Amino acid sequence: MRLGAIEAGGTKFICGIGDENGVVFERISIPTTTPEETIGQVVGFFRDKEISAMGIGSFGPVDLDKNSETYGYITSTPKPHWAQYDLVGEIQKHIHVPVAFDTDVNAAAFGELEWGAAKGLDSCIYMTVGTGIGVGAITESRLLHGLTHPEMGHILVRRHPEDHFEGSCPYHKDCLEGMAAGPALEKRWGQKGIELAGNEKVWEYQAHYLSQALVNYILILSPKKMVLGGGVMKQEQLFPLIRKKVLDTLNGYVQHPQLTEENIQDFIVPPGLGDNAGLCGAIALAKTLQQ
Ligand code: ADP
Ligand code: ZN
Repeated sequence: MRLGAIEAGGTKFICGIGDENGVVFERISIPTTTPEETIGQVVGFFRDKEISAMGIGSFGPVDLDKNSETYGYITSTPKPHWAQYDLVGEIQKHIHVPVAFDTDVNAAAFGELEWGAAKGLDSCIYMTVGTGIGVGAITESRLLHGLTHPEMGHILVRRHPEDHFEGSCPYHKDCLEGMAAGPALEKRWGQKGIELAGNEKVWEYQAHYLSQALVNYILILSPKKMVLGGGVMKQEQLFPLIRKKVLDTLNGYVQHPQLTEENIQDFIVPPGLGDNAGLCGAIALAKTLQQ
């Protein structure tokens, strides 16, 4: 089986061909410039690949309502040229196969559940902390959707008492993304995340915000695994800091063997699929069309 997959991001589109076991045969990265240019290259890549279905995980917000006239569109993004863009429609004009479409983070959650860190479970969340913060969720084996789709990267968080940074979210200023995504780090501290590796205060603040988010997701969704990826999570020292703060904040209220000092390192984890979570997730989405 040859399945096409696209992880459509704000900086690059990763396109690949894989099979029903999540094995990736081929993978390319195309810069996200204008839709004409980028989609032209995407279509060129898939044209002679003889795929039978395609999965797309996209940056958003996106319209996932199959009854909507704008199903398959990227909707209100501030990214120039891409607002109200018919992503699925444009691709299907040229590549005549069924397409499964979801958010980039829902796709990554799906990939992690199928082949990665949450394999064998029926629920998980996948959070990316990168240029933005996005979270995908699966509960009772179903990808979580709603009126549109969850936007758990923009939840409100309590400030760190010493943090006077105004926040960098263009919509909410000091929401989670505005306080803890890569650009927020860079604006607050005047250096890129990777250059701040040795600054303890940076990661204490970071753990303060991210752990609050995870606690909220635990309280609302009760996921069986929490997978944390994206550029900022390459700072591995964040994991133990976040795990400790999650346990401190829950303060014993939610009782489960996973939520203990001994076991929490198996509950809050990096992606099992590494940087391929999104692409493999898109393959897993394509696979649902073949069953
Ligand atoms: P995107 O979210 O655009 O798909 P990434 O997940 O790579 O891409 O996130 C990019 C953000 O993560 C940037 O703000 C960058 O500064 C930050 N970042 C990337 N690598 C690291 C790292 N090793 N340590 C800390 N921050 C990083
Ligand atoms: Zn926001």
